[in-house]
Amino acid sequence: MTPSASDNQPHGLRFNPHVAALPPYHAGMNVAVARGISGQHDIARLASNENPEGCSPMVMTALASAAYEPWRYADPACTALRAALAQKLGCEARQLVIGNGSEELIAAIARAVLVPGSRVLTVVPSFGLHEIEPLAAGAEVVKVAMTPALGFDLDGLERELALAPHVAFLSSPWNPVGPALDSSALQRVIKAVKPGTLLVLDEAYFEFADPGAPDGIEVLRASGVSHVVLRTFSKAYGLAGLRVGYAVCSHPEIARVLSAAKTPFNVNAAAQAAALAALADEAWMHASVGRLRLERARVAQALCALGLRVAPSQTNFLFFDAGKDSGGVADTLLRQAGIIVKAWREPGYERFIRATIGSPAENDRLIAALAQIHQADPVAA
Ligand SMILES: *Cc1c(COP(=O)(O)O)cnc(C)c1O
Repeated sequence: MTPSASDNQPHGLRFNPHVAALPPYHAGMNVAVARGISGQHDIARLASNENPEGCSPMVMTALASAAYEPWRYADPACTALRAALAQKLGCEARQLVIGNGSEELIAAIARAVLVPGSRVLTVVPSFGLHEIEPLAAGAEVVKVAMTPALGFDLDGLERELALAPHVAFLSSPWNPVGPALDSSALQRVIKAVKPGTLLVLDEAYFEFADPGAPDGIEVLRASGVSHVVLRTFSKAYGLAGLRVGYAVCSHPEIARVLSAAKTPFNVNAAAQAAALAALADEAWMHASVGRLRLERARVAQALCALGLRVAPSQTNFLFFDAGKDSGGVADTLLRQAGIIVKAWREPGYERFIRATIGSPAENDRLIAALAQIHQADPVAA
């Protein structure tokens, strides 16, 4: 039989069963698609936790400078960027691995550490890749649910860490919920980690946490636990489109094996130049984060005033119980107001929505649209 494009299954081909069975990753909706559905041109894209203020103007300058040479292969070791980060973080450059976004490093960790039958611990609701990448490696994923108070279940995490999973993925501040592990909670997690477990602390939203929140890199450095801390330029620094994140590894040997698990030229020349420029202008990032934190408090208060239950947030988004099926609410927000949010889809959390903190005008639009939905059909108490 000759295969044709209309056949669903390629004949005789056997996929890696772990990869073929993966659940899809739900990325935020594309603006062009949202325009088509809503009929509106001006779309508020509040589903991907991007920085509504853009990025430092120094990034644009760097990308227009003669030092940026797109025709050359970029440095596969990201030497300049690792040196700049090592200085900022007070670690050694050989503890650092740079990724094509921190998502690539999540994949590299899974590839480096896990084999079919390995056990991984994470939480639910969770950042999709903390589950998808271990599943791709054939690992079993155990998930600890959030508490009714919308927080980390520390007892549950301690119980599962005692069973020595191969890897534990925790994001703190927590995507999609919002809270961060405070110092005593982080110490409880660290104390519960057994030898043989790699603790991965994903701090994609570190910069948005309130002053005084623990710095995972410093706290874990003193802990003696095998660990990787992940950070990214995608969120606070506003470089989501360029794809650059990094791993701070407790041991250079972990960094060596993670490097072996990634592709050699993973971080392109534009991304390396932009990240260096962004690091040289952290004043821009801090000022932007300061404004977004104030907006976060304002929006949270407005949603609470509508009677919605909003999780505490140390991030650039809010996670709230929409009081009804979140898919329907997200659809109404898109069709009536041109707003893209993320309707959560994990079982048990189908009433929750995650909305990024946008510009003040975008946030006003979200509040007004939610108020209208609420007036038409109030949340049952
Ligand atoms: C956004 C996000 C990432 C991925 O960031 P990139 O660096 O853009 O790949 C990783 N982890 C969490 C928890 C995130 O929310």
